[in-house]
Amino acid sequence: MIVKVDGLKKKYKKDWVLKGIDIEVEEPQIIALVGPNGSGKTTLMNCMTNLLTYDQGEVELLGQKNTDTKIFKDVSYLQDNRILYGTLTAYDHLKFICDVQGLPKSKIEEVAKRVGMESYLKKRVQNFSLGMKQHLLLAMVIINDPKVLLMDEPLTGLDPTSAIDMRNILLELREEGTTVIVSSHNLDEIDRLTNKIYFLKDGALLKESLEQFATKEYYLTVDDLEKAKGVLEEAAVPFSIYNQEQVTFEETDVELQTV
Ligand code: ADP
Repeated sequence: MIVKVDGLKKKYKKDWVLKGIDIEVEEPQIIALVGPNGSGKTTLMNCMTNLLTYDQGEVELLGQKNTDTKIFKDVSYLQDNRILYGTLTAYDHLKFICDVQGLPKSKIEEVAKRVGMESYLKKRVQNFSLGMKQHLLLAMVIINDPKVLLMDEPLTGLDPTSAIDMRNILLELREEGTTVIVSSHNLDEIDRLTNKIYFLKDGALLKESLEQFATKEYYLTVDDLEKAKGVLEEAAVPFSIYNQEQVTFEETDVELQTV
């Protein structure tokens, strides 16, 4: 099992913010955790990567308990509030990771090329746009070729071009066998990116997760779509992509496919 979260519960003081989370990922894919702000996405990712202690349950990553620090050679986590140092260059940030993880320096040029940041690799981070910072953050978490990559709201606030770049890289990573778990408060952001969407609300997963819901092509039947809309309304996440016109389009599409 690549990821196994079993009955995970977490409280802050007396308040339960995770109320028994179960997640299983058996083969490399992109998984989304979608829920409104405050639903527990960050807490869940912090517990999964053992940055936060939790009160009940177990987490296994790549078949090992998450308390085994060795697995973090192959597991990366892009935190929502990750800090970059303005006076250092992008290269400095990546070199630091290579030094700590014992990776060859050749990985720096390789990953810079991959995320499209060669032209500003040697520039100081203080002048970076949000998109450039996000490229660097992404480079920092994929430089070790992780088998599991957790990303907290990686698409939030990105301009459309940067968002497309990010999506393409995530899809590439999946093709290469990386399991990506990405959180979002907005379903539109992760449309057609994931194989499976877990909805989180008030620290609990909604019973219905949606599979094959947002892959490159839609496979939804009209019944599925109605179910999806129900789930989305219950989860209280924005979903403008599934408006009335889309339903009509889906109906036509389904008919065409059955000819
Ligand atoms: P999300 O990532 O979905 O926005 P969070 O995991 O950040 O949700 O927060 C889940 C709940 O836990 C919220 O009600 C939040 O106020 C609460 N919370 C988060 N961090 C702390 C903390 N350090 N102490 C107390 N409560 C917290």
